[in-house]
Amino acid sequence: MNIDSDTKLYCLIGNPISKSLSPMIHNLIFQLNSMNAKYLAFNIDNAEYLEKAVDGIRALGIGGFNITIPYKIEIMKYIDEIDEKAKILGAINTVLNINGKLRGFNTDGDGFVKSLRDREIDIKDKKVALIGAGGAAHSIAVSLAFEGIKELVIINRTTQNAYKLKKLVEDVFPNIHINCYEIGRETSIPKDIDILINTTPIGMYPDADSVPISPRLFSTSTIFYDIIYKPQKTKWILEAEKLGCKTFGGLDMLINQAIYSQKIWNKSLMNDSIDWNYIKGEVLKNIINSLQI
Ligand code: NAP
Repeated sequence: MNIDSDTKLYCLIGNPISKSLSPMIHNLIFQLNSMNAKYLAFNIDNAEYLEKAVDGIRALGIGGFNITIPYKIEIMKYIDEIDEKAKILGAINTVLNINGKLRGFNTDGDGFVKSLRDREIDIKDKKVALIGAGGAAHSIAVSLAFEGIKELVIINRTTQNAYKLKKLVEDVFPNIHINCYEIGRETSIPKDIDILINTTPIGMYPDADSVPISPRLFSTSTIFYDIIYKPQKTKWILEAEKLGCKTFGGLDMLINQAIYSQKIWNKSLMNDSIDWNYIKGEVLKNIINSLQI
């Protein structure tokens, strides 16, 4: 597609951004929807430039942008309006620019929930366990709470961080029963979990031989979801599959969160006639090629 004076620009800001898959994913989605738009990645290596970068985005009329590590929290002070979910979890990954007014969202948790919904897994009233209590765990926990889960178990290396996440969810959703455990103390962790989610980097390339918790400790009806996408199937997921459990890898969440960002930027993409299954398939092929997984 040619670039001309009508081409709309979108971008990613973060540091580092060189390994980000976002430019490839978003440019492919624009191309497959015949949109006159491009997506670039900007490395902001000095946090002092963050406010100036946001001013530049406003001034140049850049349609929207994503934010990655380490600016997902810090950027919020430069954004005019924050969506309810993002406000609760305290971090944003997507911004929409409407005539210089910036609105912030977080699409990670919704991308996660969408992949469960697509496989017709109902999470209302379920007992869900998160391994990890970092940024991704925050987005997932808040989206799960909005979906009406009954119980949340948080298993983390630093229990203090697990308790911080518990408080954040509990303050807004007092009816959800939440317990925290230390990773590595397997005997104390409840085993009657409906969905068990790994949000730590344990098992991520190049540490591909590690697993966060043995899948054998849980029932075969437990669903295993690893948000890691390199390797596409972690050792943990392969072990759970051998036990006959339903499993998910991280690529679907990654693509879904990007599609949610695109729909925030371009309402035309809400159109029911768009074949998102085809688009997701094309994006998936490109990711697998580029990651060689
Ligand atoms: P983060 O904010 O740094 O949080 C990492 C979490 O993992 C923390 O709870 C940390 O525990 C724990 N952890 C880290 N190293 C550990 C180790 N060696 N042993 C035990 N626990 C450890 O990171 P994040 O942004 O949440 O990302 C986490 C993972 O999710 C990454 O692998 C990332 O690639 C993946 N991710 C995938 C998607 C997707 O779309 N599929 C989206 C976002 C992230 P402490 O509290 O003790 O530090």
